[in-house]
Amino acid sequence: MPITSTNPSTGKILRHFEPLTSEQLEAKLALAASAWKAYQEVPLEHRALCMRKLASLLDDEADELARLITLEMGKPIRGARAEVQKCATACRYYAEHAAKFLTPEVIPTEASSSYVRFDPLGVVLAVMPWNFPLWQVFRFLAPALMAGNCGLLKHASNVPQCSLTIEALTRRAGFPRGVFQSLLIESSTVAKVIEDPRVAAVTVTGSNPAGSSVASLAGKHIKKSVLELGGSDPFIVMPSADLHVAIDTAVKARTVNNGQSCIAAKRFIVHEGVYSEFEERFAIAMDTLKVGDPLREDTDIGPLATEQGLLEIEAQVKACLHAGARLITGGERMLGEQGHYFEPTVISGLPRTSAVYQEEIFGPVALLFRVTSLDQAIEFANDTPFGLGASAWTRDPVDQQRFVRDLQAGAVFLNAMVASDPRLPFGGIKQSGYGRELAAAGMREFLNAKTVFIA
Ligand code: NAP
Repeated sequence: MPITSTNPSTGKILRHFEPLTSEQLEAKLALAASAWKAYQEVPLEHRALCMRKLASLLDDEADELARLITLEMGKPIRGARAEVQKCATACRYYAEHAAKFLTPEVIPTEASSSYVRFDPLGVVLAVMPWNFPLWQVFRFLAPALMAGNCGLLKHASNVPQCSLTIEALTRRAGFPRGVFQSLLIESSTVAKVIEDPRVAAVTVTGSNPAGSSVASLAGKHIKKSVLELGGSDPFIVMPSADLHVAIDTAVKARTVNNGQSCIAAKRFIVHEGVYSEFEERFAIAMDTLKVGDPLREDTDIGPLATEQGLLEIEAQVKACLHAGARLITGGERMLGEQGHYFEPTVISGLPRTSAVYQEEIFGPVALLFRVTSLDQAIEFANDTPFGLGASAWTRDPVDQQRFVRDLQAGAVFLNAMVASDPRLPFGGIKQSGYGRELAAAGMREFLNAKTVFIA
């Protein structure tokens, strides 16, 4: 089957690509293996030089790159531009900090010298999603290449142009041929790449079925894996919160990237003391968002990236209402049949016993819940198979400490929305996956912490 790039705001096909043949894939694997050998000899300062050049290319070409992202997956152009700039920030961050992260750690023992040094593992396969088609890749690419690993990118099938563009950018930045390659392959070919002895490890960002499948294969072949999977992040609002800021942020946290972010706030758990006001003002704010052509600068919400995503959202909203939830606003697809547009939607009181409560909702649909106490808020928040991020809004220091301690998540943000930042480790627990990206922790995932003992 050809790999197809389709504009989700019009349904028009932009380009088709033939997947790699077995011979082409073999050539790329061979190139990656030989590139890795040679790349070991490239000094860290030179890698940093290339990484800084890559950052400059991203900055200089932010407008064209943003347009490509928006055309392929439909995010509003302002968000696409911010995404490109964030990639540049990550490149500069790792160019600056890699030397520190890679410095051997001296551990005094009875030896004349004992320490841990950090060596690259080799060629790492990155299986990536379409929702942040540049950022998801760069947060793997920047630390991996600075550490001396090589990358193979199997991007989501609906963003092949972004995939090829990233490889081209790395070449133009001066990284040697083969250090970072895009593989236009279908997901059914991923197994072949993982089992190849020239591939040392794999990272996957995507849905739970994809993560489970990749992790099983990695386990079978005893290869390191990192999984960044789905989320159903809670956004908790307590009576002491600054309600005005909390509501503004809640809207942004639910609708960022047309609602298709792993760390989007998906369940709004609001204390009864402020529930009615929150519900009313939040629903009005969701209603006033501008839905439409994502290439327009004033658009807040564009189409969902794929028709499949739109159908899933429609089915999930129906399932919520069928289970007894109340529709406050939205609930329907919009703007005709061509684009994949869905109304910003607010639903309250979904029974926790319903199957859909346990699912991730990947679109502009907010679920509201009323709770009577801090304990109940925490209980609701943790009642999910996922554990990616959590945002809690309270000015009470005692409440704050309880949330930090008791929320089951890879990150807890107080009085702020959950966001990724190159300086902070990012990752989840429970069904949201394992391992970390970003910061020093992200770079260390694909390094051999080699113990050295010299008697
Ligand atoms: P997806 O359908 O799982 O696809 C992600 C990637 O995995 C794509 O490259 C896909 O290729 C590939 N893939 C799918 N099934 C596979 C299989 N059985 N074996 C090997 N590869 C497979 O996910 P998505 O729809 O692109 O992304 C949305 C999901 O990603 C959401 O659940 C979201 O929460 C999660 N996500 C998580 C994070 C995080 O950091 N935790 C960040 C962003 C997104 P094809 O496109 O060819 O199928």
